[in-house]
Amino acid sequence: MSLKGSKKDQKCSHRTQLYIEVPATCLPIVYSPEYNITFMGLEKMHPFDAGKWGKVIGFLKEEQLITDDNIVEAREATEDDLLVVHTRRYLNKLKWSFVVATITEIPPLLLLPNFLVQRRVLRPLRTQTGGTIMAGKLAIDRGWAINVGGGFHHCSSDKGGGFCAYADITLAIKFLFERVEGVSKATIIDLDAHQGNGHERDFMDDKRVYIMDVYNRYIYPGDGFAKRAIKRKVELDWGTEDQEYLQKVEMHVEGALNEVKPDVLVYNAGTDILDGDPLGGLAISPQGIIKRDEILFKAARRRKIPILMVTSGGYQKRTARIIADSIINLHNLGLVDCDSAANEARPSQVPLMMSKSISSAAALSSR
Ligand SMILES: [Zn+2]
Repeated sequence: MSLKGSKKDQKCSHRTQLYIEVPATCLPIVYSPEYNITFMGLEKMHPFDAGKWGKVIGFLKEEQLITDDNIVEAREATEDDLLVVHTRRYLNKLKWSFVVATITEIPPLLLLPNFLVQRRVLRPLRTQTGGTIMAGKLAIDRGWAINVGGGFHHCSSDKGGGFCAYADITLAIKFLFERVEGVSKATIIDLDAHQGNGHERDFMDDKRVYIMDVYNRYIYPGDGFAKRAIKRKVELDWGTEDQEYLQKVEMHVEGALNEVKPDVLVYNAGTDILDGDPLGGLAISPQGIIKRDEILFKAARRRKIPILMVTSGGYQKRTARIIADSIINLHNLGLVDCDSAANEARPSQVPLMMSKSISSAAALSSR
Protein backbone atom coordinates (compact mmCIF):
# COMPACT_ATOMS: atom_id res chain seq x y z
CA MET A 1 0.00 0.00 0.00
CA SER A 2 1.40 3.40 -0.87
CA LEU A 3 2.28 5.84 1.83
CA LYS A 4 0.23 8.58 0.32
CA GLY A 5 -2.79 6.47 1.28
CA SER A 6 -5.46 8.76 2.58
CA LYS A 7 -7.11 8.98 5.96
CA LYS A 8 -9.52 6.42 4.53
CA ASP A 9 -6.75 3.82 4.56
CA GLN A 10 -5.97 4.28 8.21
CA LYS A 11 -9.53 3.94 9.38
CA CYS A 12 -9.96 0.42 8.13
CA SER A 13 -7.27 -2.03 9.00
CA HIS A 14 -8.65 -5.36 7.91
CA ARG A 15 -8.15 -7.07 4.59
CA THR A 16 -11.34 -7.89 2.84
CA GLN A 17 -11.94 -10.40 0.09
CA LEU A 18 -15.13 -8.64 -0.94
CA TYR A 19 -13.64 -5.84 -3.03
CA ILE A 20 -12.32 -7.88 -5.92
CA GLU A 21 -11.53 -7.09 -9.51
CA VAL A 22 -14.37 -8.37 -11.64
CA PRO A 23 -13.80 -9.43 -15.25
CA ALA A 24 -15.24 -7.08 -17.84
CA THR A 25 -17.26 -9.94 -19.28
CA CYS A 26 -19.23 -10.26 -16.03
CA LEU A 27 -22.46 -8.43 -15.44
CA PRO A 28 -22.71 -6.61 -12.10
CA ILE A 29 -25.34 -9.11 -10.95
CA VAL A 30 -24.27 -10.79 -7.71
CA TYR A 31 -25.47 -14.19 -6.52
CA SER A 32 -24.34 -17.45 -5.02
CA PRO A 33 -26.13 -20.79 -4.75
CA GLU A 34 -25.24 -20.47 -1.05
CA TYR A 35 -27.99 -17.82 -0.70
CA ASN A 36 -30.74 -20.40 -0.50
CA ILE A 37 -31.85 -21.80 2.83
CA THR A 38 -32.88 -25.43 2.85
CA PHE A 39 -32.88 -27.58 5.91
CA MET A 40 -35.09 -30.55 6.66
CA GLY A 41 -38.17 -28.62 5.62
CA LEU A 42 -37.70 -26.07 8.39
CA GLU A 43 -37.71 -23.36 5.80
CA LYS A 44 -41.27 -24.36 4.90
CA MET A 45 -42.46 -23.32 8.35
CA HIS A 46 -41.64 -19.75 7.51
CA PRO A 47 -43.95 -17.46 5.50
CA PHE A 48 -41.14 -17.43 3.11
CA ASP A 49 -39.98 -18.87 -0.19
CA ALA A 50 -36.47 -19.50 1.11
CA GLY A 51 -35.29 -20.45 -2.37
CA LYS A 52 -36.52 -17.37 -4.21
CA TRP A 53 -33.01 -16.14 -4.99
CA GLY A 54 -32.08 -19.28 -6.91
CA LYS A 55 -35.38 -19.15 -8.77
CA VAL A 56 -34.73 -15.58 -9.94
CA ILE A 57 -31.39 -16.73 -11.34
CA GLY A 58 -33.07 -19.75 -12.97
CA PHE A 59 -35.57 -17.52 -14.79
CA LEU A 60 -32.84 -15.10 -15.94
CA LYS A 61 -30.89 -18.04 -17.35
CA GLU A 62 -33.98 -19.34 -19.14
CA GLU A 63 -34.33 -15.94 -20.77
CA GLN A 64 -30.64 -16.09 -21.67
CA LEU A 65 -29.93 -12.82 -19.96
CA ILE A 66 -27.25 -14.44 -17.84
CA THR A 67 -25.15 -17.59 -17.61
CA ASP A 68 -23.21 -19.08 -14.70
CA ASP A 69 -20.09 -17.56 -16.20
CA ASN A 70 -21.16 -13.97 -16.64
CA ILE A 71 -22.45 -13.04 -13.21
CA VAL A 72 -20.47 -12.36 -10.06
CA GLU A 73 -20.37 -15.00 -7.34
CA ALA A 74 -20.97 -13.60 -3.88
CA ARG A 75 -18.55 -14.39 -1.08
CA GLU A 76 -19.43 -14.82 2.55
CA ALA A 77 -18.78 -11.76 4.71
CA THR A 78 -16.17 -12.66 7.34
CA GLU A 79 -16.28 -11.69 10.98
CA ASP A 80 -13.82 -8.86 10.27
CA ASP A 81 -16.08 -7.61 7.48
CA LEU A 82 -19.10 -7.71 9.78
CA LEU A 83 -17.23 -5.87 12.53
CA VAL A 84 -17.03 -2.81 10.26
CA VAL A 85 -20.59 -2.19 11.49
CA HIS A 86 -21.61 -4.81 14.03
CA THR A 87 -20.54 -4.94 17.63
CA ARG A 88 -18.71 -8.02 18.83
CA ARG A 89 -21.37 -8.33 21.49
CA TYR A 90 -24.07 -8.71 18.83
CA LEU A 91 -22.09 -11.22 16.74
CA ASN A 92 -21.46 -13.28 19.89
CA LYS A 93 -25.18 -13.35 20.61
CA LEU A 94 -25.73 -15.11 17.26
CA LYS A 95 -23.84 -18.05 18.76
CA TRP A 96 -27.03 -18.83 20.69
CA SER A 97 -29.59 -20.72 18.64
CA PHE A 98 -32.51 -19.18 20.52
CA VAL A 99 -31.34 -15.69 19.57
CA VAL A 100 -31.18 -16.68 15.89
CA ALA A 101 -34.60 -18.36 16.18
CA THR A 102 -36.02 -15.06 17.44
CA ILE A 103 -34.34 -12.88 14.83
CA THR A 104 -35.24 -15.12 11.88
CA GLU A 105 -38.67 -15.99 13.22
CA ILE A 106 -38.02 -19.69 12.66
CA PRO A 107 -38.84 -21.04 16.16
CA PRO A 108 -37.65 -24.63 15.57
CA LEU A 109 -34.12 -23.30 15.17
CA LEU A 110 -33.86 -22.96 18.90
CA LEU A 111 -33.78 -26.75 19.15
CA LEU A 112 -30.79 -27.05 16.83
CA PRO A 113 -27.14 -26.99 17.83
CA ASN A 114 -25.62 -23.70 16.86
CA PHE A 115 -23.17 -25.18 14.34
CA LEU A 116 -26.15 -26.26 12.24
CA VAL A 117 -27.81 -22.89 12.63
CA GLN A 118 -24.57 -21.27 11.52
CA ARG A 119 -24.19 -23.52 8.51
CA ARG A 120 -27.78 -23.66 7.30
CA VAL A 121 -29.14 -20.22 8.13
CA LEU A 122 -26.47 -17.72 9.09
CA ARG A 123 -23.98 -18.67 6.40
CA PRO A 124 -26.54 -18.06 3.62
CA LEU A 125 -27.36 -14.71 5.21
CA ARG A 126 -23.66 -13.83 5.55
CA THR A 127 -23.14 -14.72 1.89
CA GLN A 128 -26.02 -12.46 0.87
CA THR A 129 -24.49 -9.77 3.06
CA GLY A 130 -21.13 -10.23 1.32
CA GLY A 131 -23.05 -9.96 -1.96
CA THR A 132 -24.49 -6.57 -1.05
CA ILE A 133 -21.06 -5.24 -0.06
CA MET A 134 -19.57 -6.53 -3.34
CA ALA A 135 -22.44 -5.02 -5.31
CA GLY A 136 -21.73 -1.64 -3.70
CA LYS A 137 -18.28 -1.56 -5.28
CA LEU A 138 -19.63 -2.86 -8.58
CA ALA A 139 -22.28 -0.13 -8.67
CA ILE A 140 -19.54 2.50 -8.42
CA ASP A 141 -17.46 0.80 -11.15
CA ARG A 142 -20.29 0.01 -13.55
CA GLY A 143 -23.03 2.53 -12.76
CA TRP A 144 -25.41 -0.15 -11.55
CA ALA A 145 -25.40 -3.46 -9.72
CA ILE A 146 -28.00 -5.89 -8.45
CA ASN A 147 -27.57 -8.24 -5.53
CA VAL A 148 -30.20 -10.91 -6.11
CA GLY A 149 -30.41 -11.29 -2.31
CA GLY A 150 -29.79 -9.02 0.68
CA GLY A 151 -31.81 -6.05 1.84
CA PHE A 152 -31.88 -6.94 5.54
CA HIS A 153 -33.22 -3.57 6.53
CA HIS A 154 -34.44 -4.40 10.05
CA CYS A 155 -30.98 -5.20 11.37
CA SER A 156 -28.79 -2.52 12.89
CA SER A 157 -25.28 -2.72 14.33
CA ASP A 158 -26.43 -4.12 17.67
CA LYS A 159 -29.82 -5.69 17.01
CA GLY A 160 -31.39 -8.09 14.53
CA GLY A 161 -35.06 -8.75 13.82
CA GLY A 162 -37.70 -9.42 11.18
CA PHE A 163 -35.59 -12.15 9.55
CA CYS A 164 -32.63 -9.76 9.27
CA ALA A 165 -29.48 -10.97 11.05
CA TYR A 166 -26.88 -8.70 9.42
CA ALA A 167 -27.05 -5.03 8.47
CA ASP A 168 -25.98 -5.45 4.84
CA ILE A 169 -27.16 -2.02 3.69
CA THR A 170 -25.26 -0.22 6.43
CA LEU A 171 -22.22 -2.39 5.71
CA ALA A 172 -22.24 -1.71 1.97
CA ILE A 173 -22.40 2.04 2.55
CA LYS A 174 -19.73 2.08 5.28
CA PHE A 175 -17.39 0.00 3.10
CA LEU A 176 -17.80 2.52 0.30
CA PHE A 177 -17.26 5.49 2.59
CA GLU A 178 -14.11 3.93 4.02
CA ARG A 179 -12.59 2.38 0.92
CA VAL A 180 -13.67 4.19 -2.22
CA GLU A 181 -12.27 7.62 -2.94
CA GLY A 182 -14.95 10.13 -3.87
CA VAL A 183 -17.84 8.35 -2.18
CA SER A 184 -18.97 10.44 0.75
CA LYS A 185 -22.73 10.77 0.29
CA ALA A 186 -25.31 8.00 0.01
CA THR A 187 -29.06 7.91 -0.42
CA ILE A 188 -31.15 4.93 0.64
CA ILE A 189 -34.55 4.57 -1.00
CA ASP A 190 -36.36 1.82 0.85
CA LEU A 191 -39.48 0.59 -0.95
CA ASP A 192 -40.04 -2.66 0.93
CA ALA A 193 -43.52 -2.73 2.50
CA HIS A 194 -41.94 -2.46 5.95
CA GLN A 195 -40.12 0.47 7.53
CA GLY A 196 -36.32 0.05 7.26
CA ASN A 197 -35.56 0.67 10.91
CA GLY A 198 -32.15 -1.07 10.85
CA HIS A 199 -30.31 1.30 8.53
CA GLU A 200 -32.30 4.17 10.00
CA ARG A 201 -30.94 3.48 13.48
CA ASP A 202 -27.43 3.02 12.10
CA PHE A 203 -27.44 6.32 10.22
CA MET A 204 -29.52 8.27 12.72
CA ASP A 205 -27.28 11.31 13.02
CA ASP A 206 -25.11 10.72 9.97
CA LYS A 207 -25.40 13.70 7.65
CA ARG A 208 -23.77 11.76 4.80
CA VAL A 209 -26.81 9.51 4.40
CA TYR A 210 -30.22 10.60 3.13
CA ILE A 211 -33.05 8.14 3.75
CA MET A 212 -36.38 7.94 1.95
CA ASP A 213 -38.76 5.25 3.16
CA VAL A 214 -42.16 4.25 1.76
CA TYR A 215 -44.03 1.66 3.86
CA ASN A 216 -47.32 0.44 5.24
CA ARG A 217 -47.76 2.56 8.36
CA TYR A 218 -49.68 -0.10 10.29
CA ILE A 219 -47.32 -3.07 10.16
CA TYR A 220 -44.02 -4.18 11.73
CA PRO A 221 -41.78 -2.61 12.97
CA GLY A 222 -43.47 0.74 13.71
CA ASP A 223 -40.17 2.00 15.08
CA GLY A 224 -40.90 5.57 16.11
CA PHE A 225 -37.36 6.31 17.19
CA ALA A 226 -35.90 5.08 13.88
CA LYS A 227 -38.40 7.22 11.95
CA ARG A 228 -36.49 10.30 13.08
CA ALA A 229 -33.71 9.31 10.65
CA ILE A 230 -36.05 9.41 7.62
CA LYS A 231 -35.69 12.55 5.52
CA ARG A 232 -38.58 11.66 3.25
CA LYS A 233 -41.24 9.54 4.85
CA VAL A 234 -44.18 8.20 2.84
CA GLU A 235 -46.63 6.25 5.00
CA LEU A 236 -49.17 4.13 3.14
CA ASP A 237 -52.55 2.77 4.18
CA TRP A 238 -53.78 -0.84 3.97
CA GLY A 239 -54.47 -1.97 0.44
CA THR A 240 -52.74 0.88 -1.40
CA GLU A 241 -52.96 0.22 -5.16
CA ASP A 242 -50.75 0.86 -8.20
CA GLN A 243 -51.90 4.28 -9.27
CA GLU A 244 -51.52 6.01 -5.93
CA TYR A 245 -48.36 4.06 -5.11
CA LEU A 246 -46.51 4.74 -8.35
CA GLN A 247 -47.49 8.40 -8.30
CA LYS A 248 -46.08 8.80 -4.79
CA VAL A 249 -42.93 6.81 -5.54
CA GLU A 250 -42.14 8.81 -8.67
CA MET A 251 -42.79 12.18 -7.05
CA HIS A 252 -40.69 11.42 -3.98
CA VAL A 253 -37.85 9.69 -5.81
CA GLU A 254 -37.51 12.76 -8.04
CA GLY A 255 -37.77 15.00 -5.01
CA ALA A 256 -35.19 13.06 -3.01
CA LEU A 257 -32.62 12.94 -5.81
CA ASN A 258 -33.16 16.60 -6.63
CA GLU A 259 -32.70 17.54 -3.00
CA VAL A 260 -29.37 15.74 -2.62
CA LYS A 261 -27.29 14.18 -5.39
CA PRO A 262 -25.57 11.23 -3.72
CA ASP A 263 -22.45 9.37 -4.84
CA VAL A 264 -24.40 6.12 -4.58
CA LEU A 265 -28.07 5.16 -4.35
CA VAL A 266 -29.02 2.02 -2.43
CA TYR A 267 -32.41 0.83 -3.58
CA ASN A 268 -34.13 -1.63 -1.26
CA ALA A 269 -36.55 -3.23 -3.71
CA GLY A 270 -38.72 -5.38 -1.44
CA THR A 271 -41.53 -7.12 -3.30
CA ASP A 272 -43.76 -7.65 -0.27
CA ILE A 273 -45.82 -4.73 -1.58
CA LEU A 274 -47.39 -7.33 -3.90
CA ASP A 275 -51.13 -7.83 -3.71
CA GLY A 276 -51.87 -10.80 -1.46
CA ASP A 277 -48.63 -10.67 0.52
CA PRO A 278 -49.49 -11.97 3.99
CA LEU A 279 -47.15 -9.50 5.71
CA GLY A 280 -47.10 -6.36 3.56
CA GLY A 281 -50.82 -5.50 3.48
CA LEU A 282 -50.55 -3.51 0.24
CA ALA A 283 -52.10 -4.32 -3.14
CA ILE A 284 -49.55 -3.60 -5.85
CA SER A 285 -49.73 -5.66 -9.06
CA PRO A 286 -46.77 -7.46 -10.67
CA GLN A 287 -46.81 -4.80 -13.40
CA GLY A 288 -46.77 -2.13 -10.70
CA ILE A 289 -43.60 -3.61 -9.18
CA ILE A 290 -41.91 -3.74 -12.58
CA LYS A 291 -42.88 -0.12 -13.21
CA ARG A 292 -41.60 0.90 -9.77
CA ASP A 293 -38.15 -0.58 -10.43
CA GLU A 294 -38.13 1.17 -13.79
CA ILE A 295 -38.85 4.53 -12.14
CA LEU A 296 -35.89 4.04 -9.79
CA PHE A 297 -33.41 3.01 -12.47
CA LYS A 298 -34.52 5.79 -14.82
CA ALA A 299 -34.16 8.42 -12.12
CA ALA A 300 -30.71 7.19 -11.07
CA ARG A 301 -29.23 6.53 -14.47
CA ARG A 302 -30.48 9.80 -15.95
CA ARG A 303 -28.57 11.60 -13.19
CA LYS A 304 -25.56 9.27 -13.50
CA ILE A 305 -25.94 8.17 -9.89
CA PRO A 306 -24.60 4.64 -9.33
CA ILE A 307 -27.50 2.44 -8.19
CA LEU A 308 -27.25 -0.69 -6.06
CA MET A 309 -30.43 -2.76 -5.90
CA VAL A 310 -31.11 -5.43 -3.27
CA THR A 311 -34.21 -7.62 -3.33
CA SER A 312 -35.21 -7.62 0.37
CA GLY A 313 -38.63 -8.91 1.51
CA GLY A 314 -41.37 -10.58 -0.52
CA TYR A 315 -41.61 -14.34 -0.51
CA GLN A 316 -44.78 -15.41 -2.26
CA LYS A 317 -44.46 -18.20 -4.79
CA ARG A 318 -44.79 -15.79 -7.74
CA THR A 319 -42.27 -13.29 -6.36
CA ALA A 320 -39.18 -14.75 -8.05
CA ARG A 321 -40.84 -14.56 -11.47
CA ILE A 322 -41.72 -10.90 -10.93
CA ILE A 323 -38.18 -9.97 -9.87
CA ALA A 324 -36.78 -11.73 -12.94
CA ASP A 325 -39.34 -10.04 -15.22
CA SER A 326 -38.40 -6.68 -13.74
CA ILE A 327 -34.68 -7.19 -14.41
CA ILE A 328 -35.56 -8.26 -17.97
CA ASN A 329 -37.65 -5.11 -18.36
CA LEU A 330 -34.73 -2.96 -17.16
CA HIS A 331 -32.55 -4.71 -19.72
CA ASN A 332 -35.05 -4.23 -22.55
CA LEU A 333 -35.20 -0.52 -21.78
CA GLY A 334 -31.42 -0.23 -21.82
CA LEU A 335 -31.36 0.76 -18.15
CA VAL A 336 -29.01 -2.11 -17.29
CA ASP A 337 -26.50 -2.33 -20.08
CA CYS A 338 -25.92 -6.05 -20.17
CA ASP A 339 -24.67 -6.29 -23.72
CA SER A 340 -22.19 -3.49 -23.48
CA ALA A 341 -20.74 -4.64 -20.18
CA ALA A 342 -17.78 -6.16 -21.94
CA ASN A 343 -17.02 -2.94 -23.83
CA GLU A 344 -17.47 -0.52 -21.00
CA ALA A 345 -15.78 -2.10 -18.10
CA ARG A 346 -12.12 -2.17 -17.33
CA PRO A 347 -9.92 -4.94 -18.63
CA SER A 348 -9.63 -7.84 -16.29
CA GLN A 349 -6.80 -9.92 -14.96
CA VAL A 350 -8.78 -12.69 -13.36
CA PRO A 351 -10.74 -15.63 -14.70
CA LEU A 352 -14.48 -15.77 -14.62
CA MET A 353 -16.12 -15.30 -11.29
CA MET A 354 -18.37 -18.29 -11.00
CA SER A 355 -15.36 -20.51 -10.50
CA LYS A 356 -14.81 -20.94 -6.80
CA SER A 357 -11.06 -20.86 -7.00
CA ILE A 358 -10.29 -17.19 -7.24
CA SER A 359 -7.02 -16.61 -5.51
CA SER A 360 -6.78 -14.09 -2.76
CA ALA A 361 -4.18 -12.34 -4.85
CA ALA A 362 -7.02 -11.20 -7.06
CA ALA A 363 -8.43 -9.24 -4.18
CA LEU A 364 -8.27 -5.61 -5.00
CA SER A 365 -8.15 -4.29 -1.55
CA SER A 366 -5.12 -4.56 0.61
CA ARG A 367 -6.91 -3.16 3.60
ZN1 LIG B 1 -40.72 -6.28 4.24
